Amino acid sequence: MAEVLTADAKKATTTGKKYVYLFGGGSAEGNAKMKNLLGGKGANLAEMASLGIPVPAGFTITTEMCTVYYKLDRKYPPELFDDVDAGVRHIEKIMGKTFGDPENPLLVSVRSGARISMPGMMDTVLNLGLNDRTVQGLVKQSGNERFAWDSYRRFVQMYGDVVLGLKPESKDEEDPFEVIIHAKKAERGIKNDTELTTADLKDLVKRFKAAIKQRRGTDFPEDPKEQLWGAINAVFGSWNGNRAVIYRRINKIPEDWGTAVSVQAMVFGNMGNDSATGVAFTRDPSTGERVFYGEYLVNAQGEDVVAGIRTPEPMSELAKKMPKAYDELEAIRQNLEQHYTEMQDVEFTIERQKLYMLQTRNGKRTAQAAVRIAVEMVKEGLINKDTAVARIAPEQLDQLLHPMFDFEAKRKVKKLATGLNASPGAAVGKVYFNAEDAEAHAAAGEKVILVRLETSPEDIGGMAVAEGILTVRGGKTSHAAVVGRGMGKPCVVGCGALNVSYAQRVFTVQVGGDAVTVKEGDVISIDGSDGAVMLGRVPTKQPEITGDFATLMGWVDEIRRLGVRTNADTPHDAKVAREFGAEGIGLCRTEHMFFGGDRIDAVREMILADDLDGRQKALAKLLPMQRDDFVGIFRAMDGLPVTIRTLDPPLHEFLPHEDDQINELAYKINRNPERIKEKLVQLNELNPMLGHRGCRLGMTYPEISEMQARAIMEAACQVAKEGVDVHPEIMIPLVGTMGEMVNQKELCDRVAKQVIKETGVKVDYKIGTMIEVPRAALIADQIAKEAEFFSFGTNDLTQMTCGYSRDDAGKFLPYYVEHKVWAEDPFQTLDQEGVGKLVEMGIKLGRRSRRTLKVGICGEHGGDPASVEFCHKVGMNYVSCSPYRVPIARLAAAQAVLAERDAASAEAKRSTM
Ligand code: ADP
Ligand code: MG
Ligand code: MG
Repeated sequence: MAEVLTADAKKATTTGKKYVYLFGGGSAEGNAKMKNLLGGKGANLAEMASLGIPVPAGFTITTEMCTVYYKLDRKYPPELFDDVDAGVRHIEKIMGKTFGDPENPLLVSVRSGARISMPGMMDTVLNLGLNDRTVQGLVKQSGNERFAWDSYRRFVQMYGDVVLGLKPESKDEEDPFEVIIHAKKAERGIKNDTELTTADLKDLVKRFKAAIKQRRGTDFPEDPKEQLWGAINAVFGSWNGNRAVIYRRINKIPEDWGTAVSVQAMVFGNMGNDSATGVAFTRDPSTGERVFYGEYLVNAQGEDVVAGIRTPEPMSELAKKMPKAYDELEAIRQNLEQHYTEMQDVEFTIERQKLYMLQTRNGKRTAQAAVRIAVEMVKEGLINKDTAVARIAPEQLDQLLHPMFDFEAKRKVKKLATGLNASPGAAVGKVYFNAEDAEAHAAAGEKVILVRLETSPEDIGGMAVAEGILTVRGGKTSHAAVVGRGMGKPCVVGCGALNVSYAQRVFTVQVGGDAVTVKEGDVISIDGSDGAVMLGRVPTKQPEITGDFATLMGWVDEIRRLGVRTNADTPHDAKVAREFGAEGIGLCRTEHMFFGGDRIDAVREMILADDLDGRQKALAKLLPMQRDDFVGIFRAMDGLPVTIRTLDPPLHEFLPHEDDQINELAYKINRNPERIKEKLVQLNELNPMLGHRGCRLGMTYPEISEMQARAIMEAACQVAKEGVDVHPEIMIPLVGTMGEMVNQKELCDRVAKQVIKETGVKVDYKIGTMIEVPRAALIADQIAKEAEFFSFGTNDLTQMTCGYSRDDAGKFLPYYVEHKVWAEDPFQTLDQEGVGKLVEMGIKLGRRSRRTLKVGICGEHGGDPASVEFCHKVGMNYVSCSPYRVPIARLAAAQAVLAERDAASAEAKRSTM
């Protein structure tokens, strides 16, 4: 091998680019750090080979070649052909077999692999190099004629599908190769594939080739070299296949990453009962428990396990049946975890008792498992706390914050069956039996559960929209399980008790002697945490932060500097958020309190009043209601600051628009319906979001601001008297001029002092503003002279900076995101270069006038991890987000600190070099 390496090294220096990397025989040219170039699979095969782990020899063509291939209009630079030839010679030498040799043929697999794993999204071809002559050599090598012909049969089938394109052409068509196999079995009167004789397999090879010729117009290539290039083309081609493109879109994977191609010597798990193939995780990917978790099939080839066609056996069986190979595997498990300090997901094959590793990668896991593994690895001394915190994707925590089934309720409902708990969480929805229907009904606003015999990569769109996924076949490493976990969807697999009929769109199941039928559109509940499948809608309850999750969040809080508050309008939300770690309320929208019960009537009465008198009468009704709400919130947030915003939305949002509603209101508030209609016409605005709203209401109707300031302060004084530690912060929305700021501050200040005087209770309060009109950011230095705090309202700020109406942007923003006009929707992820510039400037100017100015953010962005990092960078004091996103924001804030430290230490290293 040394010869090949030096030759290659020379080549690399002459052409500048090295496109092929060898591995095997105890060493490798690549390593695990080269994922971008070699793909995850290629890089880790190289790494394992260097670690002395038994890996069949091979070589990897780089992802850069994929890009070149597309640039050259699906052609290659000529030097690649020599490099691939050299790669094949490298494998031949190590394996002692020759590619295309009828006596002692080398067979290879041609495997795809991107930087990050895209399970089942791209193609792989196994057993390549077989033809009518080399199959005889395989008979000789193995001494097993049936095995050799079965391998050949599989090869023609796989190559025919992946490379030559003989596939089902519609969703109802069965796989053409399976049709031929079924026909053959019917003719022979047999049921199982295992009953097919050598003669049958030979005949199948013939029929497969004929079908390919007939339907695709091509002869099956007998020349192994031609086969090899066909497969390499197909793997590069699969990067732009439908499935891969959809997967990339869902997972935001850039198109220009490309896939690598790994060509590797075949090893056979299907050489008899002392052979096997399997998939395993070094820890349980759904719970995180430190057990060797996996499944294998005796006498089978790799893809059989993942396809979920036969239900595999657990690792504990392997320990009993092939103890030697198992012990070796267990040692490799330890080795890999120590080496990668991460939970690994491995593929292995045992060929006649001899173990080979075919893949390792960081294993996908549920959020629950991610947290447990991170915490336990710290305790085991494998990683430190910073690493543990850095490893959890903030978005993934979302899974842990979703409701779970109520335990008591669950005990009472009818359990239909139990499958394998592949991905935890509670899902309730209507049953649909194919991806297309699931997508259509989800698009119509239904919650759906996708029920399949097993899933395949074609189902990806339906899986993405489903609340949960339920399959009849397959183990915890089946496609459904892996993808379900990746998406964070509740998933139950291998639920063999269900009798599914796609044709009739029902499943039936025996429950205590009765046959229960569940039709398309019926509601079921599935629990991915224990595998339960239940009829109807089972109630759910709030999650809690306990155990490992609490430990991790403790570390998060030690690291982060940015505060995290919540947006909450009710005592209940405030309480939930506090349990999730909120350190105050950053935004309490008073108008949300206007809708409950018969309050809306008083609100409408106020809006429709003809004069000040009428308005004040209505406001007097609202005052005690608002005060009571604030009392509840202040109590819930004892000791923490609460920012309350005065009335913000355009008034017409509160008014009825339908005739019967208008009549009903007229009756209730004793007014003439015609007068109300006139008033509605008056209130109508062409552009309400830029109209009479925010502090503009408080300017023209000061009595509204007065009532609200009074309600806030009376509540504060009342609870302070009870001993509650209360910190009200009154926030004026939509300020754009100094006139507004001065006026509203003066008004609130006056009322506050009055209330304090009336009640004789001294309460510390602050008055500040939202910065959401671009002009406010521009004059932030002036505004900060009056405002005691700023809260960036980035929803409106984005709307006004970009000039996009939030309510209408749905018409073009998705297009913009799809066509990369925007990398992300600016209403979801803060536009750092535009809106962010205003934010940065606003903070700087504001603090110039008031050094201690407290600054926060209260738009949707406050719960978006990338935006949280930005808020940390620009020196905000806190972010505020919805209660369920509080833990996510806390984690993102801690990761912002870690990223900052990493950057600083990289900088330090650079400057000492
Ligand atoms: P995927 O990325 O879809 O998992 P892989 O390239 O990993 O595709 O291959 C699919 C299956 O074929 C896996 O189970 C793998 O272990 C098996 N396989 C791939 N190459 C070989 C080989 N050289 N010998 C034996 N089995 C192989
Ligand atoms: Mg694989
Ligand atoms: Mg606003």
